[in-house]
Amino acid sequence: MAGGTFRARARKALENPRLRRAVRVTMNNFMSARRAAMAELAQLAREGLALGDFAAMRERARAIKQHTLDHLDHYLARAATAIGERGGHVHFAAGAHEVGEIVREIARRRGVTLAVKSKSMATEEVHLNRALQADGIEVVETDLGEYIIQLAGETPSHIVGPAIHKTREEIAQLFGRVVGRELSTDTPTLTGVARQVLREKFVRAGMGISGANFVVAETGTLCIVTNEGNGRLVTSAPPVHVAVVGIEKLVPTLADLYVFLGLLARSSTGQKISVYTHMITGPRRPGEADGPEELHVIFLDAGRSDILGTEYQEVLHCIRCGACLNHCPVYRQTGGHAYGAVYSGPVGTVLTPLLGEFRDWKDLPAEACSLCAACWEACPVGIPLHDLILKHRQKTAREGLDQSGLGGPLRLGAAAWTKPWAYRLSVRVGRLALRWFAREEEGGRRWAVKAPGPLRAWTEGRDLPAPPEKSFRELWAEHLRERGQRA
Ligand code: SF4
Repeated sequence: MAGGTFRARARKALENPRLRRAVRVTMNNFMSARRAAMAELAQLAREGLALGDFAAMRERARAIKQHTLDHLDHYLARAATAIGERGGHVHFAAGAHEVGEIVREIARRRGVTLAVKSKSMATEEVHLNRALQADGIEVVETDLGEYIIQLAGETPSHIVGPAIHKTREEIAQLFGRVVGRELSTDTPTLTGVARQVLREKFVRAGMGISGANFVVAETGTLCIVTNEGNGRLVTSAPPVHVAVVGIEKLVPTLADLYVFLGLLARSSTGQKISVYTHMITGPRRPGEADGPEELHVIFLDAGRSDILGTEYQEVLHCIRCGACLNHCPVYRQTGGHAYGAVYSGPVGTVLTPLLGEFRDWKDLPAEACSLCAACWEACPVGIPLHDLILKHRQKTAREGLDQSGLGGPLRLGAAAWTKPWAYRLSVRVGRLALRWFAREEEGGRRWAVKAPGPLRAWTEGRDLPAPPEKSFRELWAEHLRERGQRA
């Protein structure tokens, strides 16, 4: 778990204008590309050239996910059989320790000293690099963004764009250290260096490690969606391919996969489809020129089965597109590191307290969400993230874990506002207090700019118009009196 609180980490991020600009620009690009892609999808649907518009596709995707999770034991067994029939090996890992053990055992048996990796949130989650490095195995990230943050010794700040917080200058410095010379910051130079360094790693690696965006249960096919060619090299160049996949990544059939492929890239980067969509069914067969000699698929639980059947099950629908991050007003200000966990943004706010110790992460749902529901609107599988965050808050209150000091005043307010006389009294006191703190502005408008005590933080960033001298109730009573009626 990262040190400090969400509030402290967010404050640090907010004090970094460069980071905020980098995150805002990238998020804006993702959002406008997504809008255009969804408009085009709607047009295709009208012409009968797509399965449906965003709303229809998302309903289909949601139904498929729900069905799969409701029958997960069946589909896991089916996928395991299909992978085995095509020459692959299937492992089930309860958590991080087991994944580390399984991969290390394969590496020892095959004498692996260097492994190349493509982007995988599941392996981030179980800290696989650390486990392998402890055994003296060099692990090299080959997704450009992941490679950058590996060199920087950082964690991903976005599901799709792990290094969006890094500037060209910072990347040039990191790459310059690798090649031992000063580099210019233009894109061809930087990508050229990455290509040159990583190619050599691909050639020497004894193991390729990937995740998978989807696993098709009927055929045992791994589907890996990328925008760089590294995914193909990782899964086909080294003699051993190991894929670490969350158990929720299953879809029943290839036809179901088609629905998700229509949504994933559009929601994520606004592309119709990503540059590479790899479909891997088994290791290399006799007579084939490419592909690994061994394929291992590790199905990772790590707390997911505890979520099944609970009120939080829908979070397992997530296809890691990142759209909820791009649209979240909190994430857009702070970036991903403020969340202190592998998964950031709204989905991280729901998932992290479920996969980890709730008590350690309770400040995420309490503080990293405004309940605006923009995440839910953007989510291609319709996860009601704001509702799930609210459930976390209810759990925090129910279990007496709230330390904000707001519980007492809120309970008092709730008790007072269920009695009309107390409500009227509190509104009157509040109005008088606010008017007392208000200052005169030009044009006769009054504003409350500095609230007292703990309320000061709220007025530091915003001015509140001073309430009028008389409330609506008082004005209405006067109006009725003037007309000779009883209030
Ligand atoms: S919760 Fe929805 S929007 Fe967020 S990453 Fe997952 S699928 Fe995408």
